[in-house]
Amino acid sequence: MRARELKQLMALTAKLTPSQREQLMARLGSGMALDQATAVVQARLSQSPGCPKCQAVRLVRNGQADGLQRYKCRNCGVTFNALTGTPLARLRHRNKWLLQAQALDEGLSVRKAAARMGVHRTTAFRWRHRFLTWPREVKAQHLDGVAEADETYVLRSYKGQHRRLLAEQARKPRRRGGRAAKRGLSAEQVLILVVRNRAGQTTDFVLDVANKPCVTPPLQVAVADDAVLCTDGSNLLATVARELDIEHHAVNTLRGERTRGA
Ligand SMILES: [Zn+2]
Repeated sequence: MRARELKQLMALTAKLTPSQREQLMARLGSGMALDQATAVVQARLSQSPGCPKCQAVRLVRNGQADGLQRYKCRNCGVTFNALTGTPLARLRHRNKWLLQAQALDEGLSVRKAAARMGVHRTTAFRWRHRFLTWPREVKAQHLDGVAEADETYVLRSYKGQHRRLLAEQARKPRRRGGRAAKRGLSAEQVLILVVRNRAGQTTDFVLDVANKPCVTPPLQVAVADDAVLCTDGSNLLATVARELDIEHHAVNTLRGERTRGA
């Protein structure tokens, strides 16, 4: 809107009756709710940019659609927005999403949530399920407070990937579980970094190798700058924590020690 038009509009508001003012406020409120929800959605992509198809990070802005910034992947050419590939893609009434999130947070029943959002019960029911599927896919980031980090190894699984197993010929097919054919660490094992804080937020990363270049980027994402990191005395994690300027304490988990001081 042009500045002159806005001035006229503002002048007109002086003539509103109380009930008209209420209608206008409701309309403006819904617009603001849409702006807020859009900002939350957009922030997701700017925090961890990446193509949903090929995970490349070289993206260019490619116009707007449906009030959301569109991006084009320089690598594979696919266009997408912050919601592409998420359970919320193509979900309507974005101005009511924050109310839905709030309703989930407060543990409201479907009926109460529907009443608060002004939508039908079946809509509220469907939304609840869409909203609940998302957090399972989203890893916690920037864990704060006291966080524990540990490296762990699991056997590489080829579940549902029989052809790939045959192609790689890494080992003979087996039923679930089992043990490694070779002793000690080998290509049969996958290294995983697990970080968990006292609030129960957990995140994990698959690492190629246990070395500084592989551990630094995930640890930087997983742990907040002002967090206190506890490990079982791993030299590698201690070094990386020091370089990232994160407070680090070695805790002897073998002795069952979980805390030291505060
Ligand atoms: Zn791509």
